[in-house]
Amino acid sequence: MASDSSEYVIGGVKVLFPCKPYPSQLAMMNSIIRGLNHGQHCLLESPTGSGKSLALLCSTLGWQQAQAGKCVCVSVRKQKYPGVFTCNLLWVSAPSAETPRGRRKSVASQLSERLQVSLPSSPEEDEDFQPLGKRFRSSEHKVVLLMAFSDLQHKHAFDLGYGTKQLQTNLDMSEPCSHCPCASAKDGVKDKDGKKKIPKIFFGTRTHKQITQIAHELKRTAYSSVQMTILSSRKHTCVHSDVVPHFNRNELCKELLEDKEGRSCRYYHGVKKMGTQHLLQSVHGLCGAWDVEDLVSLGRRLRSCAYYAARELMQGASIIFCPYNYLLDPMIRENMDIDLTGQILVLDEAHNIEDCARECASFTVDNNTLQMSKEELDGLIKLNIRCSDHEPLRGFCCMLLNLICESQALLSERGYESSCKVWSGTEILQIFHGFGIIPDTFSNLKKHLTAVLEKEERAGVVDGKELMKTVPTISSATATFFKSIFMVLDFLFRDNCRFAEDYRVALQQSYAWVNRVPPDVPDANGFFVRPHPTHRKSARVKTEVQMLSFWCLNPAVAFSDLSRSVHSIVLTSGTLSPMGSFSSELEVKFTNQLEANHVINKSQVWVGTVGSGPSGRKLQATFQQAETFAFQDEVGDLLLQVCQVIAKGVLCFLPSYKMLDKLRDRWLSTGLWMKLERHKTVITEPRGGGKGDFDELLQMYYEAVKYSEGMTGALLFAVCRGKVSEGLDFTDDNARAVVTIGIPFPNFKDLQVELKMKYNNQHCKSRGLLSGNRWYEIQAYRALNQALGRCIRHRKDWGALILVDDRYRNNPNKYITGLSKWVRQLVQHHNTFSGAVQSLVAFCQEQQKVQVDLADSQIQTKALASCEKLPEAEEDTSSNLKAEQKEGILSSVQCFKTKILIKRISFHIDLMFGKERYRKINLNAASGSRRGGSNGKNGVMFCPHSAIML
Ligand code: SF4
Repeated sequence: MASDSSEYVIGGVKVLFPCKPYPSQLAMMNSIIRGLNHGQHCLLESPTGSGKSLALLCSTLGWQQAQAGKCVCVSVRKQKYPGVFTCNLLWVSAPSAETPRGRRKSVASQLSERLQVSLPSSPEEDEDFQPLGKRFRSSEHKVVLLMAFSDLQHKHAFDLGYGTKQLQTNLDMSEPCSHCPCASAKDGVKDKDGKKKIPKIFFGTRTHKQITQIAHELKRTAYSSVQMTILSSRKHTCVHSDVVPHFNRNELCKELLEDKEGRSCRYYHGVKKMGTQHLLQSVHGLCGAWDVEDLVSLGRRLRSCAYYAARELMQGASIIFCPYNYLLDPMIRENMDIDLTGQILVLDEAHNIEDCARECASFTVDNNTLQMSKEELDGLIKLNIRCSDHEPLRGFCCMLLNLICESQALLSERGYESSCKVWSGTEILQIFHGFGIIPDTFSNLKKHLTAVLEKEERAGVVDGKELMKTVPTISSATATFFKSIFMVLDFLFRDNCRFAEDYRVALQQSYAWVNRVPPDVPDANGFFVRPHPTHRKSARVKTEVQMLSFWCLNPAVAFSDLSRSVHSIVLTSGTLSPMGSFSSELEVKFTNQLEANHVINKSQVWVGTVGSGPSGRKLQATFQQAETFAFQDEVGDLLLQVCQVIAKGVLCFLPSYKMLDKLRDRWLSTGLWMKLERHKTVITEPRGGGKGDFDELLQMYYEAVKYSEGMTGALLFAVCRGKVSEGLDFTDDNARAVVTIGIPFPNFKDLQVELKMKYNNQHCKSRGLLSGNRWYEIQAYRALNQALGRCIRHRKDWGALILVDDRYRNNPNKYITGLSKWVRQLVQHHNTFSGAVQSLVAFCQEQQKVQVDLADSQIQTKALASCEKLPEAEEDTSSNLKAEQKEGILSSVQCFKTKILIKRISFHIDLMFGKERYRKINLNAASGSRRGGSNGKNGVMFCPHSAIML
């Protein structure tokens, strides 16, 4: 526990904070505690670098402890210590033998029980292969914290040994608490004995990397010993050496666990070694906040599965970290056995929560998947396996295939080689009704699915013992298809079809190029001669693709499961603005809203809009304008000048990959790209590709910035809503400027975007939704704010935000109001580009001067200190060390330059030999179908994946 924590009483709750909080942190904690006290929901925007994570952790954990302490203290005081208000901090852990509240057992528990029965139990055997006889599901460890009441004004005496455990008997918590904030809150959830349960905190964030960062923040706090767990995928937590190298770890794991021939996973049987909070903290010493790496290392050491251990640890945990789709997606919630009733839900980085909630309740399937599922069921039926269950499911597949087939005549043209047909949710339910799918028959279908997923069935009774036999089951792809479509149907039929109008079902037909191996053809004698697989060439074939999408257009559908049952929801991000859409879209009343200020000084950030380029040409990145060479050349010249005056890292965000391609093609042909490369190492965000390739590019960018001199550095072209715009940190020199070109509106030709806008227009009056146009604009501002938020990542950081588009200045009421509060407060409109550059240069010089002064004063302080302390000999060593360090840096620079050189050479070699991965841009000016401009030479080639252009 951090000993230097300061104590703050906020809303009647004592909060221990590891440092002096910023005003934005205090404001945030105040909003959260007010929300938790009254069971209300919170919507909080606080810029990156303003200490949002610490404020979230300390306020929620402080409130949780206060709840436990106050409730227990009141009842303990009355029962055991009448008249005495002082008691010590105690952990009370009371494992119950039963599964709580009749909930279904978790996958882990079910498997555990089955393995318990089926595995050998000889004590001589390797411990890893022993049965799980002693393993128990820790069930609801009622973890409560007794706290001291020094008086009735809630002056608690926290024991600084928080986390030390003294087991006590279970305490009666049924006594209503009249002194603490929970008295005014929602009723809360009670366990089977009617005792009030302390809400757990489910802390969801976007990525696993962010979870690790939050766990590190937790370590800094006085609450670091809180009982916790991190839910994660097998990709991050599997410890089986045979499974880890494979990408399909889920499948391999399930196969191992279900194998009846004794091949099971030894690590799974070891879960009991670290599956409870007590074992983890007291026996294995994982007392402070830990991250997934720590649990996996412990798992490897103990030969215990970290994946299942993390799930078991959820039972006794007070705070559970996970990616937030685990909390939103009803299928994942069910698989992971997550019950959010009465709990606190914190969703960090929640700027995309509306999209995520819509996606969680949507599903798309193509005709190939449907056909394969049907054929698989045909096969099982032919083999006479569970025909009574498989046949209705096959019938369901046939129904969807028929629907696709019969709707061909209804398709209407939408664009080049694409057509579609759209039904409303109500219409699709009528169609389903015609096929006999109604709520009753649907519930039968679900039972059939449950039955066919069972891998064993009763074979008879021998000597009074039940014999079970293994039965073949459907593949996991088919199982996933049925589970997903049934999840959508569940929503469509729920509460007398009340969500039906929130759905649109679209059949889209288009064409795709796929690799296909030619069929075997018999020779003259009727023999099939199949070449060796390595010599068998596949052919590119243009294939018709039909996609059937069940789109949920209302995020409140998936969110309604949460908002109705949880104690409080806290939505937070550095870039929630514009905040107006959250309440209406999610149908949640956010009583506590906050747009916190940034913690930096105003002088540390330059925010300017630029409506024209160096030659004075107006820049408006509308669809028509962006197509013209004049626009493309003007943007190119503008960027070149920015790169000439901004040292180190520059990020340039474009509205789409299409525009990125256009600009790159044009600049390659005009030579502008080469000019940019004279100043910066130019890197472009790849459209697809693996994470490894992208990480390599990023590393190259960071190295180019690190080893740059003078005004050189790196320029990274990225796309709003792309890989760079989310979750990546470009601190200090890595982003001294962010340039945004245009306003990143979503693609209005996208059918889903079009339907969503129509849906909002249809319901804006009756349900208080935003109009379609307003919703469309908000998507653009949110993406823009996200891109701008890559710069200024901590209190001492500085940088420039350059918004390139004439519309900002022409219509500020429309285009500036959507920006985050800290950005819009500082916006300056520049009439000319030269004026903007002058201002930018002055800003950079000022910041660099501040930086140099700061560095000088630090060196002086250090030098003074070392002069006083170090003897002469040590000073010599120190100067030697400096020389060595300098040499090290020089060799790193050399190494980086060599790397770049090798990249360029390999690019040339690949270019000469025409490797497939480089595509040729055919600048066919005559046909008018050019993808970019031309400098008069046809056939300019470049590598879309490579960072370094020649
Ligand atoms: S049980 Fe755990 S260790 Fe074993 S394969 Fe599955 S995830 Fe991996």
